[in-house]
Amino acid sequence: MKVAKWYNNQDIRIEEVPKPNPGPKEMLVKVLSCGICGSDIVEWYRLPRAPLIPGHEIGAEVVETGGSVSAYKPGDRVFIAPKVPCMTCYYCEKGHYPICANSKARLPGGFSEYVLVPEDIVKNGTYLLPDNITYDQSTFIEPLACVIRAQNLAEVQEGRTVLVIGCGMSGLLHVKLLKSKGCKVIATDINRKKLEYADRFGADLTVDAKEDVAEVLISQNRKKADTVILCASAMSAVEQAWNGVDKGGTVVFFAVPGPDKEVSVPINDFWMKEIKILTTYYCSPYDIADAISLLEKEEIKVDDMITHKMPLEDIVEGFQHVTESKDSIKVIINPT
Ligand SMILES: [Zn+2]
Ligand SMILES: [Zn+2]
Repeated sequence: MKVAKWYNNQDIRIEEVPKPNPGPKEMLVKVLSCGICGSDIVEWYRLPRAPLIPGHEIGAEVVETGGSVSAYKPGDRVFIAPKVPCMTCYYCEKGHYPICANSKARLPGGFSEYVLVPEDIVKNGTYLLPDNITYDQSTFIEPLACVIRAQNLAEVQEGRTVLVIGCGMSGLLHVKLLKSKGCKVIATDINRKKLEYADRFGADLTVDAKEDVAEVLISQNRKKADTVILCASAMSAVEQAWNGVDKGGTVVFFAVPGPDKEVSVPINDFWMKEIKILTTYYCSPYDIADAISLLEKEEIKVDDMITHKMPLEDIVEGFQHVTESKDSIKVIINPT
C-alpha cells in the first residue's frame, strides 16, 4: 500500500509498504479522507518523530476486523481519534484528558491508503459516522473538537465579545462556533482573503492585523474583548492578544509562537485587571462526541471551508498550500 512519509515540509515521499494484517483485537481501515492540520506543518513539533506518516483528521471505512472485535464490521464508516486517554489517571480525573499519563497507543497517520487501528483506539477512539456526515466533513471532527474544548475551558458564553486572532482553518472554526453560541466576534488576520472568509462565516467585525486592534475594539465595540483566542503563531499576534483583552478577560493560547521564541507577559498590568491566560491542546472524547453531534445536526457547516482536495500522490502540493497559507483554508487528501 502507498503511504506518505514526512521527513520535513520540503521532503515528503510516497513510499510503498506492506499492508498490515490486524491482530485479534485490531482492525484495518481504508482512509477515504484525511485533512492536513495546521499542526502537521509545524516542524519543531513534528521533527523529533520524523520520518513519520502524518494525518490525524481521518475519515475511513472498516475493511477487516480481528477475531475479537465485535463493535465494528467491514463497511462501517468511522472517524478514528489519533490517541485516547485512559479516563482513570490523576490527569483524566481532573479533566485534563490531553495530558493523560497512560495514553500510549497512537494511530499511524492517515496519509496512507490503509491504517491499522490499535486495540485501545478500536475500543475507545473509534466513532461511527452518522449517515449525513460525509468522509470529507469527518475530517473536521478532530479540529472542531479542539475548538470546542478551548471555548469550554475559556467559559465562552452568549453575548460575550470574542477576538479571534488568525483566520486560518482553526480560527475560522472558532468564528463559526462562537457565532452559533451568540457571541460578538471580531476577527483579525494579515490576509485579506481570510478576513473575507471570517466575514462570510458571520464575524461581526473584521480587522486587518496591521491595524491597532485594541483601538478598533474600543472605537467600534466600546470595550476590549472578554476573550481573546490566539490562532496565529506570530509574535505580533501575541502582542495584539495582550492589548486586545479587557479587564477580567481571558487570553487563550490555541496556537503558540514556538520554542525558539520568548513571550513576555505584561503581568503587572494584568495583575490589577484579573486577566487570565489559558493554554489548550488537543481535545477529549466528550469534545469529539460534541463535534460529531454539531456536524450531524448541521449546527456547524463545514463544506464552505474546503478549498482543496487531492489524491495522496499530490500531498506535497497539499502541504505547500497549507504552508504558504495564501488561498487555502481546509486541504483534504483522499488516499483512496
Ligand atoms: Zn489537528
Ligand atoms: Zn488518563
